[in-house]
Amino acid sequence: MILIDGKKLAAELREELKQEVSELKTKYNKVPGLTVILIGDMAPSQIYVRNKEKSANEVGLKSEVIKYPDTVEEKTILDKIEELNNNDSISGILVQLPLPKHIDKQKVIETITPSKDVDGFHPMNVGNLSSGYESSVPCTPLGCYLMIKKIEPNLSGKKAVVVGRSNLNGKPMTQLLLKENCTVTITHSRTKDLKAECLEADIIVAAVGIPELVKGDWVKKDAIVIDVGINKTENGLVGDVAFDEVSKVAKALTPVPGGVGPMTIACLLKNTIDCFKRSQK
Ligand code: NAD
Repeated sequence: MILIDGKKLAAELREELKQEVSELKTKYNKVPGLTVILIGDMAPSQIYVRNKEKSANEVGLKSEVIKYPDTVEEKTILDKIEELNNNDSISGILVQLPLPKHIDKQKVIETITPSKDVDGFHPMNVGNLSSGYESSVPCTPLGCYLMIKKIEPNLSGKKAVVVGRSNLNGKPMTQLLLKENCTVTITHSRTKDLKAECLEADIIVAAVGIPELVKGDWVKKDAIVIDVGINKTENGLVGDVAFDEVSKVAKALTPVPGGVGPMTIACLLKNTIDCFKRSQK
């Protein structure tokens, strides 16, 4: 079984991106800039943002974190986004989710200009992805996609089952696999027989949030299994896939932690660089 080492793949991707940033700097005499807006002091968000900033600096991007207390007014955030939209030195804008209840998430997402939407959440990017046009793609599914392609470069005709239909993970993952000519089944909480669906799959991507939902006897021999889930349990951090069981049948599997997570952040950097490149065209 191939253990898909997300840390290693993310380090390789960061190395490529570092090289690319250095070439862009020579060509344009400037580097891509990423601005992250962080509202409140929730510990997980603080950690994510710190990691994002560290990785951005590592590859040579210009990065900035703007912090607000969780009492900040929605208008202050929307005005700041508009200001960043109009600032040529900023290539990518990310507002760290979740947001306090009094701030309308969709309004925030739609205020970020699509060309700087490094999360790929703006409806324009969602539409472009589903139409097969160039767009920013949400970082986690993009990371999953790159990992799958490392294992199996030609996905044409493969059967893929995506477990979970969130806008963040399941839906964009489905679009990426469709673009690769997979036959994709998207499953969710109302799917009648999830085990039977999974057993058909050459590729399974689980993004649910239920510890070890996907069992060993749900997986076809030699399937590629990508585990997006991050679940805190009394036994520590586990994914949505029963790792020990599935590792006995799968051809390749991502661990949790150390699988999808590190690739997500590397893909944010990739998206920032891609936004910069598109803005120079
Ligand atoms: P979500 O709660 O938005 O969506 C979960 C999806 O799972 C829903 O579409 C729901 O229909 C489906 N679902 C629920 N119960 C099910 C069941 N019994 N069978 C089949 N489908 C079921 O979650 P999300 O934001 O997509 O996140 C999913 C998981 O991925 C979480 O554990 C989250 O922490 C993790 N995550 C990891 C990363 C990363 O970088 N590794 C990034 C984002 C999210």
